[in-house]
Amino acid sequence: MSTPDSAATPTPGTAYLVGAGPGDPGLMTVRALEVIAEVDVVLYDQLIPPTALDGARPDALLVDVGKRGGGKQVPQAETEALLLDHALAGRSVARVKGGDPFVFGRGGEEAQRLRDRGIPFEIVPGVTAGIAGPAYAGIPVTHREHAPGVAFVTGHEDPNKPESTIDWDGLANFPGTLVFYMGVRRLPAIASSLVAAGRPEDEPAAVVQSGTLGTQRVVTGTLATIAAVAAEAGIKAPAVTVVGGVAGLRDELRWFEDRPLFGKTVAVTRARAQASGVARRLRALGAEVVETPTIRTRSLEATLPDLVDVDVLALTSPNGVREFMAALLRSDQDGRNLYGTMIAAVGPGTARALREHGIRADVVPETFTGEALAAAVGAAPPVRRASGPAPRPRRALLVRAAAAGDALPDGLRAAGLEVTDLPVYETVAEPLAPETLERLREVDYVTFTSASTAGFLADAGGVTDAEATAPHGRLPVGPDTRAVSIGPVTSAALAELGASPAVEADEATIDGLIAALVADAAMR
Ligand code: SAH
Repeated sequence: MSTPDSAATPTPGTAYLVGAGPGDPGLMTVRALEVIAEVDVVLYDQLIPPTALDGARPDALLVDVGKRGGGKQVPQAETEALLLDHALAGRSVARVKGGDPFVFGRGGEEAQRLRDRGIPFEIVPGVTAGIAGPAYAGIPVTHREHAPGVAFVTGHEDPNKPESTIDWDGLANFPGTLVFYMGVRRLPAIASSLVAAGRPEDEPAAVVQSGTLGTQRVVTGTLATIAAVAAEAGIKAPAVTVVGGVAGLRDELRWFEDRPLFGKTVAVTRARAQASGVARRLRALGAEVVETPTIRTRSLEATLPDLVDVDVLALTSPNGVREFMAALLRSDQDGRNLYGTMIAAVGPGTARALREHGIRADVVPETFTGEALAAAVGAAPPVRRASGPAPRPRRALLVRAAAAGDALPDGLRAAGLEVTDLPVYETVAEPLAPETLERLREVDYVTFTSASTAGFLADAGGVTDAEATAPHGRLPVGPDTRAVSIGPVTSAALAELGASPAVEADEATIDGLIAALVADAAMR
């Protein structure tokens, strides 16, 4: 029996204070991802990784408490009220913050409010910016020869104000590394106060802006020079300042900025479900990735024919494989009904998806055209059947996206096969947020992994034929952006939009595309 909300006080939901790390999505903890995937409500801050909430439930309520319309932070009291209200209404809530929730994150106060109201809570620690930022700059916050300890300090307070709660003399005497959060504007005052209180003027110091992100910037100097160096370089928040001998180790230990795509911003136009693999690989190469998914796939809930009548099953994408498997189980058949059927995968990604379902493709043609597929099918050894070798394949079932063109089925028909073209999913447009479109105009590279991503991006961007200009035609990117195409078919689709890609992969695979992008980046 269920009672309406108003009639009884529900059991409070659990509240989670979750650290999402400093910015690199790879630095989120397993527990953080688990909690985000589970909860009813997510209250999130600005300084969380761009993809932090991708795994949230589709029906979860996501509330941005980091900023409001005009760019002002939602007041802490209001955030706390939201946290308490949702939990008291019986919903599980994750309060997702940058870095660690208990390091300058007001997590301590929030936990106290939760405790006061009898709401069960869990703390999910995160990788804090004051350790991770320096680490990505090649600065260990402790080191046996340089620093036996580390202090994390807020740089928020003006050291010249009498009400400052920081004991600057005590801090200057701290035997070890000092890491300041939030203090970019106060850097001159912080540095001079430390020197005035006895910290040596020539002590190494570094400022790390946007640490662990592809946009990371680092400046180094000494306590005497760091404020001027940072100002000169235009260092902005978010940044941490490291003071101590360890800051001098950066020259020797820098690593992050030396990766091949460091400093490059790359837009990935694939459907969200497929983009993350590419995005992860680009990030691992040091790129800042802007995910601009302009398409999404939608299942057509297709009905499979009786597989007894199918001699050759041809699949053209990993998504087609997933849809086929789902359709197979919806019908009254299962994997055993594929016994004796020749299976062709158009491309290595599709073959890999089949393997995940325990199926080895018999045929993976070198080039992905109808003729090549038909020739490969003709050349493949017969598939074993209980009644002896299979007859020459006659009937092909082509499982793929709707409106995928005639080239493939025509090529198979020309080779004498009877073809059933079965659309199992369709590709639909996904609108891009205005902020995403804005970021797109600034990217160094925009990648296209299929003809459809190009068309959909042009449509999402709203650049008309009349507004189209070389070299990008109707693509909504800036003049300096370089378009990267996975292969000739995609390049042709780009050409139709008036765009000419700067780079085309030698091999029409994701590996080929990434290799071509890295090679191009190395030359500029
Ligand atoms: N709870 C967070 C800190 C929140 S206070 C943590 O544990 O990291 C916000 C401050 O954190 C910023 O002003 C900046 O000093 C620092 N910060 C957050 N993300 C950062 C990043 N990617 N690089 C450098 N500093 C960062």
